[in-house]
Order: sequence, then structure tokens, then C-alpha cells
Amino acid sequence: MLNKKSVENLNVKGKRVLVRCDFNVPVKDGVITDESRITASLPTINKLISEGAKVILCSHMGKPKGEVKPELSLAPVAVRLSEKLGKAVVFAKDDTVVGENAKKAVAEMKDGDVVLLENTRFRKEETKNEDNFSQELASLADVYVDDAFGSSHRAHCSTVGVTKYVKESAVGYLMEKEIEYLGNAVNNPVRPFAAVLGGAKVSDKINVINNLLEKVDILIIGGGMAYTFIKAIGGSIGNSLLEEDKVEYAAEMIKKAEEKGVKLLLPVDTVIVKEFKNEAESDTVPTGLIPDGWMGVDIGPETIKIFSEALKEAKTVVWNGPMGVFEFSNFAKGTEAIAKTMADIDGTTIIGGGDSAAAVNQLGYGDKMSHISTGGGASLEFLEGKELPGVAAVQDK
Ligand code: AMP
Repeated sequence: MLNKKSVENLNVKGKRVLVRCDFNVPVKDGVITDESRITASLPTINKLISEGAKVILCSHMGKPKGEVKPELSLAPVAVRLSEKLGKAVVFAKDDTVVGENAKKAVAEMKDGDVVLLENTRFRKEETKNEDNFSQELASLADVYVDDAFGSSHRAHCSTVGVTKYVKESAVGYLMEKEIEYLGNAVNNPVRPFAAVLGGAKVSDKINVINNLLEKVDILIIGGGMAYTFIKAIGGSIGNSLLEEDKVEYAAEMIKKAEEKGVKLLLPVDTVIVKEFKNEAESDTVPTGLIPDGWMGVDIGPETIKIFSEALKEAKTVVWNGPMGVFEFSNFAKGTEAIAKTMADIDGTTIIGGGDSAAAVNQLGYGDKMSHISTGGGASLEFLEGKELPGVAAVQDK
């Protein structure tokens, strides 16, 4: 159980409550293309509105690096959020985030009103967690609620610094839900417990692999990172992705899996191409026999069968990272097959954000999963066993 004060137990009537949300949504030509993070923020916001708080929302979007970038303004979020809440959301357009406009908007709030501040990363202090901006944010509010799981692995002003200067702090419902699902899966899983890791780089997931080998019964490795493991067992991988300096580490992990009795599954066949494009000529070969000049871009049909059979036995599955270059439809079959298998599993299925979450949603399997994390980086750090600074900073129960 999370030992942090919860929004559930706050007394907020008439109080100014600053809520750190994760509204870091993809926007194309002013249109939000995936609003799942906005939807995920609604339970906390609705609760605060219904209890008569003055609800002041803040978030970052993208990486403006301390500069005002109009294309990274949160203005489109205010519009969409207002539609979803069915009530006005005042957007406090302010280049300095907590400037005259924001202060005026907050001063004019009535109980149950909602104000959204501008992108916190328009301020260069934000990512450095500098006190002056933390104090400015805190000056707007009596209470702080952190509901930004997707940013909780970052110690910034709006996730950590601000907690020093408010009277009271708590976590929101989304934060609680994310930590409950991920925490239960990792620390108290119904077994067999399987993890599926993919994506481009071994180096991004080194600590995750190491930590998960202490906990899982089955570890499945696909995607570009698998070839470093194949190399470690003496396979020929042609021009496939390779992290030469991680081959030894991969060998150690294979040994560790054996020692711990973890069933480690690597791809046995691979779809290969000579050119990196969707229409490229392709072939399917055993993974350790990839000819020079060819590279692996997806797991093959035999691997799909083996991975799916293993997953069907599992009662808890955590998945992070695609099985191939799923952005090319011809090489998305492995990723799609894993998504489908997970959708049919009778157990707890958790998608660790990022590309795998996007793939599952695109394929229409979103509703079939127990939990799709809103935080790719944060869920990985959680799976590594690290403490998340944004959670640690909140007041204990
Ligand atoms: P990550 O951010 O580490 O989860 O990696 C996601 C990226 O890995 C996606 O853009 C995929 O296209 C890429 N990827 C997955 N499998 C391969 C592969 N076999 N070769 C090259 N890139 C891959």
C-alpha cells in the first residue's frame, strides 16, 4: 500500500488546490492526437470540483527548454478538458506561467472553478528544480496534489520543489492507481509472472532486466534489443541492432536467468530486410543465422507461437517495448500478435506506457488490458525498483 496522503482524504472546500497533471499529450497542427492522459486526469479533477475546491492545474508539455514555444502551449488542452469536464476551464495564458494573468485568474476563482496554467517548462527553472519557481507555484495554492505519474521520475519544481512550500500535499487517484497496479505486479504478483521487453536499446533497460530477473518466472525479450542477446550466445546477427559493449552484460543476464530458474525466451526466427523501409524485400530466417547485409526488423512466426504459448500460462504480465519496427506496418506483426495474446489472457495485464501503449490502443485492445500506464519512463524506473522522486516528495499518510 502506498504510504502517502491521498486526495481522497483531503478537506478542500474553499481551498486553492494546485494539481500537477501529466498533460504531455501529442499535438499535431493544434489537434490532440491521443487524449488518454487527459481522460486519466479526470477522476481527481472531478473529485476536487465536486468538493468545492478552487482547482488550479499545471503540467509540462514537450521540451521547450525554458523558452516560450507557442506550439507547446497547453491552450488546446484547456479546450479539450473543458469539453470533457462539461464546464469552463480558464486558460491562464502567461509566458512566465505564474505571471499577472495567472495570479488574476486565480484571484477571481470561485469554489469549484478550474484554471489551467501555461506549460511549466516555459520556465527554465522548472527542470532544474530551482526554488524561486517552486515558491511562485506554491504561492498560488494552499494544497498541492501530484497526479502526474508520467513525470514522477523527474525532480522538477512542479513535481518536487513545490511540496516544500505548501501547507499540505497528497497524491491523486491516477498516481495511486498506477502505483497500485505496478507495485502489486512487481512485489506481489499472481504467478506465473511474465515480463515482455522489447524496443531498440538494451542500455535503456539494463536495470529493468536485472531487477525483473529477481521477480519474474518468465522473461521474454524481443525487438531490436534481442540481437545483443543472440550475439551473446554466439549467433550471427548480420546488420541487426547491436550494442557491442552490452554483449557481456547480456551473457551475464542469461546466466542469471538460469541460476534463478527464470524461463528466458529469445526470438528463434526473425524477419529480415536489406533496406530499412516498409516495402523492403524481406525474408524470415533463424535468428542466429542472419546473413551479412541483412537486419532483423520483427520476430518471426515461430517466435510468435512460442512467446504466445508461454504468455497464455501467465497470470500477471508486464509489457514494455515493441517486438519489431512496428511503425512500418509490414513489420508490426510481432507487436500486434503480442498485443492480441495479452488481450486474451485471463489475468492481470499491464502495459508500461510509451510505444507499447500506443500500439495496444491503436489496435483497439486498450479496453482488454487491466492497466495501461500513462508513464513510459516512470513505469520503467518503477520496474527498475527505483523510488520515484515525485511520489517520495508528497506528505506521508
Ligand atoms: P524503445 O524506445 O527502446 O522502446 O524502442 C522503440 C523503438 O524500437 C521503436 O521505434 C521501434 O521501431 C524500434 N525497434 C524495435 N525493434 C527493432 C528492430 N528489430 N530494429 C530496429 N529498431 C527496432
